Amino acid sequence: MGKLSFRKGLLPIDGLDFAAGRTLVQERVLEIYSPREVLVPMLQHIGTPAVPCVAEGADVSIGQLIGRPSSRISLPVHATISGTVTAIETVTLSNGVRTEAVHIRSDNKRRYHASVARRANPERLSPKELSLLLLRSGIAGMGGEGYPAYAKCVRAVGNGVTRLYVNGLSSEPHLSCDLHLIHEQADRVISGALALGSCCQVREIFFCIQDSFQPEIAILRSALDRIRPMYPDRHLEMLVFRSRFPQGYERLLIRATTGVELEDSQLPENTVASVVYNVSTCAAFWDMVERNLPSVSRIITISDDKASVKNVLVPFGTLLSDLLERTPGVQTAHRIVVGGALTGASVNRLDIPITKQTQGIALIKEEHPVRTPCIHCGACVEACPVGLLPYVCNRLIELSDFRALAAESIDRCISCGACSYVCPAGIELSARIVRAAHSMPRKEPET
Ligand code: SF4
Ligand code: SF4
Repeated sequence: MGKLSFRKGLLPIDGLDFAAGRTLVQERVLEIYSPREVLVPMLQHIGTPAVPCVAEGADVSIGQLIGRPSSRISLPVHATISGTVTAIETVTLSNGVRTEAVHIRSDNKRRYHASVARRANPERLSPKELSLLLLRSGIAGMGGEGYPAYAKCVRAVGNGVTRLYVNGLSSEPHLSCDLHLIHEQADRVISGALALGSCCQVREIFFCIQDSFQPEIAILRSALDRIRPMYPDRHLEMLVFRSRFPQGYERLLIRATTGVELEDSQLPENTVASVVYNVSTCAAFWDMVERNLPSVSRIITISDDKASVKNVLVPFGTLLSDLLERTPGVQTAHRIVVGGALTGASVNRLDIPITKQTQGIALIKEEHPVRTPCIHCGACVEACPVGLLPYVCNRLIELSDFRALAAESIDRCISCGACSYVCPAGIELSARIVRAAHSMPRKEPET
């Protein structure tokens, strides 16, 4: 089969200098970070926040429940380090959302809760037992979207999906946390995907990866060849995509694999009988299945615009200030971005906790280019993966012509940042279009 892709977007050769010739994925050393304290937010997902169920002064250990779900679209929250609860306070997340958080001071012992223990024969669990584990795991989609993994599974079963796509595609050149997992722990990713496949009652599982990551392709292929004979009733296949950003977006993955262009209000589950889980989500679920360890930490990528990268295993609730304390170059960074360099949110405070949705931290050292008026070069149009005309949208935003903006379908913008990246005039197209799109009335997603 030829390489899958979509039209437009950014190829590494398009001048994406931090992607060309980079050695990002070659950085395989995984640091494990042990913070002195954590501030664990009750809301780290799409939905309603959990309610704290521990009191000040309580002794807690890793994996212990500290927040109970408050609705069907809510998630349990667990202690991410061992130590003492010192306060329940309000915290502001990188996206500006304010939520309750449990402050834990570390005892430096990394004690696990008694419930965290290796399970005998995890591969023999029934779909019902696996679904219950998914519900209790507290996993939110770790590709950045943050939708509760269990709620997605319920929707998948309700719609009778037949395929699961494991998304190992990059939305941004800098973020290598998922590739790190494929390179170092492919078996864990595949085992988690098989378990998710059982929960969602699908037999066909497709592992999606980009063609520029040849070592990871070889590792994944060999792991699949080894594991496939153990599951004769499943179809396990690797799909290779052309390296192009932002291929990792769910809608672009679905377009490349099925040819179907999802509307803003459509979901893969109810439109193309498919469900998509990210690589990190699969690995996190295997921890729950194999040793009853809920979602307490994740790998995030710390990078800068000179392609210096490291992947760090970070407990949720770790403060940015703590994490970056020993990272060279923080003081000289022009901007600190939570998420990817192209699409993340710039922050001006460091008392922000890492959450289940944080894929990376980018330290931007170069100054913004000098902004000039639009020179009508068309680069933003060529880059936009969903076919918008960003320079036209920008002009309509300046004119506050919201009727015309609606006609341009700016609600299709996926906030990928490609237009801003290529604009030689230095216009922050993406931020302006995303802001305008959010202020427009939205269609309710179909269920
Ligand atoms: S308009 Fe939106 S979808 Fe298109 S390139 Fe810009 S940020 Fe990406
Ligand atoms: S890339 Fe920038 S300068 Fe070129 S058409 Fe788009 S907005 Fe104008």
